[in-house]
Amino acid sequence: MPIAAPSRLLLGSGPSPVPERVLAALAQPTVGHLDPWFGGLMEETAAALRRVMRTEHRATLPISGTGSAGMDAMVANLVDPGDRVVCGVHGLFGERMADALGRQGADVVRVEAEWGRAIPVERLIAAVDGSTSALFVVHGETSTGVCQPLDGLADACRAHDALLLIDCVTSLSGQRLELDAWGVDAAFSGTQKCLNAPPGLAPFTLGERAAERVLHRTTKNRSWYFDLSLVLAYWNAPEGAPRAYHHTAPINLIYALREALAIVEEEGLDARWARHARAHEALRSALAELGLERLAPDGEALYPLLAVRLPEDLADEAGIRRALLLDDGIEISGGLGPLAGRTWRIGVMGVGAEIAPQERLVRALAPRLGRDPEPAVDALRAGWAA
Ligand SMILES: *Cc1c(COP(=O)(O)O)cnc(C)c1O
Repeated sequence: MPIAAPSRLLLGSGPSPVPERVLAALAQPTVGHLDPWFGGLMEETAAALRRVMRTEHRATLPISGTGSAGMDAMVANLVDPGDRVVCGVHGLFGERMADALGRQGADVVRVEAEWGRAIPVERLIAAVDGSTSALFVVHGETSTGVCQPLDGLADACRAHDALLLIDCVTSLSGQRLELDAWGVDAAFSGTQKCLNAPPGLAPFTLGERAAERVLHRTTKNRSWYFDLSLVLAYWNAPEGAPRAYHHTAPINLIYALREALAIVEEEGLDARWARHARAHEALRSALAELGLERLAPDGEALYPLLAVRLPEDLADEAGIRRALLLDDGIEISGGLGPLAGRTWRIGVMGVGAEIAPQERLVRALAPRLGRDPEPAVDALRAGWAA
């Protein structure tokens, strides 16, 4: 018997719902990684990624592996032992990057903020000095639902010849992000958040200044798999030259990503960013009717992820999430780290950022919190009509 996966409404921190069109792309016949037809698809996919990431960087590609593989690729290619790297930490994903940098032997300078707040950019800027090799921040902190402002960071980095590195796993296509205009030197993302593709690829981009570092290394990259000088000989073979086999590309996942990016471009990035903002605010006001207030203050919210505080007297939040999943078929995520047991995290990602799935969630959740769903549904509709 073939497996039959249950149909879940994925409204947690990721993976997000995968549309039928993307699933159908995934199920197309597998071809070889050196097949000329596939080469054309790779070109199209990289070009679409550049447009969605708002970058012209030639070295833009999906790294084989989930978002975390993008993080490892960033560290392996751009950080050497002894490098002074300023790392913003305001949640789990900044914490993970600090860990990854430490493993690479970097001298990690942590600039922290309380979980649930953005890091004041002045503090990041003040930490960058002449001996700094790079500054890293998480643009969309999925553990807390906070969007980190990047104002002034690129100028500070350029003044000291440091690279500006970002994690845009959750923000890509769900919140305004202009990599080139904002002076970001390298970024990694993931496919299973706002892009609505299955997990397994990490969109990645490397600007000129960062590419220089990759090409002019004096020591060999300690990672073989993520060595971009090798991977790019496959993705960015010079005109007329054959693509050099490095590792077998996850062919079908690239089909899925190509289709997911086509969906993003059919909507248009500006319209998509606006829809995520509207969906976030509508759900926020609906959940407020159920006694669930947003954690992030105004001006710091990450639209693709709404983290809400749980009422102090709520018994067994994990039991409610479990019943929501197993009885109602809806997944939402619990809190992480210091916010475990105190928050829920609700995804507002791609096709999840629509009124129908949100209304289904609100109607399922209200009775489990002992509330009447109607005022919340009214607030949701008013939010969408605004
Ligand atoms: C999901 C996520 C990651 C990790 O991605 P995986 O696909 O789980 O490896 C990294 N950073 C952020 C901000 C994320 O939301």
